[in-house]
Amino acid sequence: MRWNMRLSRLWLALLLVLGAHARAAPSHAQAPTPIREFVIGYSAQGRPIEAVQVGTGPRKLVIVGNTHGAPEANTYELTRQLIDHYRANPQAVPDAVRLYLIPTVNPDGIALDWRFDAFGVDLNRNMNTNLDECRENDWSRSVFGAYGITSDTGGAFPDSQLESRVLRNFLLDAAGVIFIHSNAGLVFPAFCEHGPSIRMAEIYATGAGYEYQRFWERYFITGGTHDWAASLGIAAIIPELVSPVDPEYEQNLRGIEAVLAAYAEVLPLPAEQVVNGQPVPAVIWRYWRAHGGEAVFGLPLEPPRQTALGIQQTFARARLEYRPSLADTLFVVQPVPVQATLTSNGSISAAFGAVPVGIPADGLASPMISDAPLFFEQSGYRISGGFQQFWAQHGGMDVFGVPLSAEQTARTADGQLRTVQLFERAIFAYDAETEQVQLEPVGWQVLLRGQVLAPTSAAQIR
Ligand SMILES: [Zn+2]
Repeated sequence: MRWNMRLSRLWLALLLVLGAHARAAPSHAQAPTPIREFVIGYSAQGRPIEAVQVGTGPRKLVIVGNTHGAPEANTYELTRQLIDHYRANPQAVPDAVRLYLIPTVNPDGIALDWRFDAFGVDLNRNMNTNLDECRENDWSRSVFGAYGITSDTGGAFPDSQLESRVLRNFLLDAAGVIFIHSNAGLVFPAFCEHGPSIRMAEIYATGAGYEYQRFWERYFITGGTHDWAASLGIAAIIPELVSPVDPEYEQNLRGIEAVLAAYAEVLPLPAEQVVNGQPVPAVIWRYWRAHGGEAVFGLPLEPPRQTALGIQQTFARARLEYRPSLADTLFVVQPVPVQATLTSNGSISAAFGAVPVGIPADGLASPMISDAPLFFEQSGYRISGGFQQFWAQHGGMDVFGVPLSAEQTARTADGQLRTVQLFERAIFAYDAETEQVQLEPVGWQVLLRGQVLAPTSAAQIR
């Protein structure tokens, strides 16, 4: 019975989400499909990463033009031409689809006249591809790059680069993504077995008149954007243009038209998952998994629930919130704020905040990889050492926020005295024995406290 009520609340949430989309559309049926131009985030050197949206359907298809900077500038030019086409012909996007065209995720690479980002990292080798069943494509600092040359351009750790984090969040609710490169002259899907990715690559290749290959055969691509996307259930392919200079507009337009016509087959709607016996909404699951999963946030402890702002779900070490009103921003899913104080007896009293914190106006903050301690003017506290490393590697400002205390000793949930530090959206605790940093299990504690305080069934009879 309770289960059914929760399930029906989920349906209500879904209807609200769909309703929000419907309201965004013009009120009468004959109106043109909306076209929206916006910035999804910024590069490390502060250049905008721009997107154009055409259509408002439930299936999000993203075309990422340029990833590899200046040497593949024809992919940027191609996407600009595609934008002109879909601006003039928005009705070419089926009602079931909303199409996003991103001319480049690497504006710094274009400006700097090379393949890499501003830090010399290859953005198609930096993603966390350790989430799928395949080992060969796992992230590595040492990578095979252009012409099969080996170099240390995978980045300091998976998703270390700002542009990778922009992609990681913007694609959370995507059904499909096409990463265009040049110039090997073929189309291939994600490395690990994923039916919709394979079908999309076949259909694109046939439409465009390019050669289809199941695998990139020259070497293993580690940390690839397409492999990361497919590991979350997003259909993902790489078309490689034939020419290093020609945008090959006609061919790729036909490839995209073929994919759009086959949307039911190749653009699967993000699917709810079951973890720890709990249903987890698709977008929350993808965020959880892409940001460290059980190791960082713990397992889901209860079904999702509807709130005024969206859907929340409590995990052992965080409460994650999906806000439909923030769709297509980098903050569509975030951990809710943690309000914590250190009590006079040395233990931590924590609860989840009810008030939403402000969304950063200028996109994702820099991961700020640095060996020197970081000082935060916003709060007047600094982070350093193991806490700093954990903070930077697992999402930084965008996941945990700024520090709200200095490091101090406190009694953690397991009754041990440990070094802890409070952050806006988490409490860090250091285990000296394992030399590991972990988030305090605030979700587990809050649910436990709720059970202790809840009336017993006998009391409910009154
Ligand atoms: Zn490339």
